[in-house]
Formats: sequence, structure tokens, C-alpha cells
Amino acid sequence: MRDQVLTQAKRVVVKVGSSLLASRASGLQMDRIERLADELCAIKTTGRDVLLVSSGAIVSGVQKLGLAVYPKSLPLKQAAAAVGQSRLMWAYEKAFERLGVNVAQILLTHQDLADRRRFLNARHTLSALLTHGVLPIINENDTVSVEEIRFGDNDTLAAEVAHLVDADLLIILSDVDGVFTDDPRRNASAERIPLIIEISSEIEQLAGGTSKEEGTGGMMTKIQAAKKVAAYGVATLIMNGQTAGLLPIALTGHDIGSLILPHGPQLSSRKQWIAHTLRAKGQLMLDEGAIDALVQRGKSLLPSGIIQVSGTFDSGDAVLCADRHGKEVAKGLINFSSALLEKMKGLKTADIRKTVGDQEYEEAIHRDNLVIL
Ligand code: GLU
Repeated sequence: MRDQVLTQAKRVVVKVGSSLLASRASGLQMDRIERLADELCAIKTTGRDVLLVSSGAIVSGVQKLGLAVYPKSLPLKQAAAAVGQSRLMWAYEKAFERLGVNVAQILLTHQDLADRRRFLNARHTLSALLTHGVLPIINENDTVSVEEIRFGDNDTLAAEVAHLVDADLLIILSDVDGVFTDDPRRNASAERIPLIIEISSEIEQLAGGTSKEEGTGGMMTKIQAAKKVAAYGVATLIMNGQTAGLLPIALTGHDIGSLILPHGPQLSSRKQWIAHTLRAKGQLMLDEGAIDALVQRGKSLLPSGIIQVSGTFDSGDAVLCADRHGKEVAKGLINFSSALLEKMKGLKTADIRKTVGDQEYEEAIHRDNLVIL
């Protein structure tokens, strides 16, 4: 399983944190950036699409501005990011130029992805870049990101990017070897967990709150990012980014880091958007036959299987489908308004024609617009 996920990943998002690239005292470490570029190119030449989510702007700016401490105030962080981001990209430009690879800078805020149109714009741009062999380098647009529109940390940003580009794998490079059974700095017998099938509350507890001053991550945000992308059908590998040469080897299936498997079927981006981004305007109670048709047989929902309609919605809105006990089983885009569906529920197609006349659609929710939860 492990081998399969790692060796077959076609599109990979790699996230690297500030502490792996820079220090407050000496700024960006060119040797580390060059090594990262070498390893990213190595995985790119195996025919994969590679995107990098890189932190390091603020730390680099802090060093350049000669600030004594890591800034606490948002405007100063933003100012440091503005100074540091161009230095960061300059360093990447140099490092990738040696290897003949073009890079592109993409700066995002959460708002860019919460709006479907902007989400799709960003997606198209990234896909055009990948088609042209460019390696996109993404960071939060720290200079304009205020609290309400922030991702807050680059682990979360990397998770959203993995969703944005329909990645197969998210790799989070860290300064530890992976997820451990206990804190390895305090307990020498703590063991790395090579494979995590599902992020349980126990795993979340293990991750604890290991925040650092430089950068905002810690294991907790990495685990949260992995949990988020697992629901999008993306696997996550959390591994050590300090040891030279590990990244290309990890993708050959070697036992490196902790691999967190996706759960649930891989959904298309549009279905993920229906499932995770859209708010449901109403709920349908379905009978057992309809639930079986949807869940087991991959069919569309017909009005005949609907027992009850709740909420007020129009055709095209998102609605939830639940069983008689209120357990949610599916979510989809409805073809009829709640008023019309109220008249059609429980009726076979022929009876619908007699009762409410010919309708444009036979299905209440077409399979293509339906996500099983
Ligand atoms: N975007 C920030 C930077 O480039 C880092 C945020 C993070 O590391 O989570 O410095």
C-alpha cells in the first residue's frame, strides 16, 4: 500500500518550513535551498508534477532588516515578509536556474480559494504552469493577509494547494522524522509510526502543540493538514527535510517518514467543492431503496425515493440526503425547488407527469452532482 501510494503519485505538493531554509541570525541558507532544488528536480525528472509551498519570507526579512526579535505585530510581520519574499524567490531563481528549471511565484490568501471563481482561476494558472514544465513556488500573501483572510500557517496553505491542484500526495518536510508514539526529544524509546490509516484522536493527541517561534507550524498543524487532505483523497508524507537525499528515495517507496492515507474515494475537485465548500440549503429524507441505489449502486436520486423535504431551496442549490434516523448519507445539487419537490416526492416518473406535468429532469439529483458522505 505504502509503496503504491508513493511510487504512483503523479502530482506532488512539497511543503518546506522556514527552519529548514533560514535562520534569524544568518537569513536564507543558499546551500539548503540548492539542495532542496536538486531534490525537487530529481523527483520532477521522474515524470511527476511538482509544486513547492515554501515559507521563509518572514525569517529572511527579519534578518535583512536586522530586527532583534521575531516580530509579534502583524504590520511588522507583513513588512518583514515583503522584504523577505523577494529574497526568497531570488534564492529559488538562482538555485533552479542551475538546473535549467523555470520557477514561478504564486502568493495566495484564503479568500482566493474560498471563492469558486477565484479558486478556478488559480487552478487554471497552476495547471498552465505545470503544462509548461514550470515549478510553481507558493507562499501565503503575507503582506496583505490580515486575520480574517489568512491561512495562518503554511501547512494549512499546502493542504489547500493540494486540493486546488488535485494532487496525489502532499509531502511535509519537517525537522523531525515523522509522527512518533511519544515526543522523541523527551522519550528515547518513542517510535516513528510509518503508516497511519486514519487520523484518530490518539494521533491528534500525540501531535500535541509543538509550535516554534520561527514559522507557525508544529506537528499539530501538520496533522490537521493531513486530515484535511485525506478527506480530499490525498495522501500525506511527513518526513525529515534536514537529511540530504531523503526526498527522492522516499518516493521510491522506502520506509521514510509517516505516511497518512487518504480515506474515502478520490473525489473530483468539483465534488470536493460540493462536499466541503458549499453550504446545504435543505435536507431530504430518503427511503431504504433510494439509499441503497445511491450508496451501493452508484445511481442518481429519483423523486420516488424521497420521503420528506425540509428547508427552502431552489434548483441548483446544495442539499443533504439522510436516512430515516437523520444520518447523512449524501450531498448534492438538486434539480428542483423545495416547493416543486414537495409535490413530486414519493412519485414515480409517470405519476409525476400526471401530477405536475413534464419536467426537464427525471432525477432529483443527478449522479454527477452527488457525493456520498
Ligand atoms: N508565510 C510565512 C513565511 O513565509 C510562514 C508561515 C509558516 O511557516 O507557516 O514566512
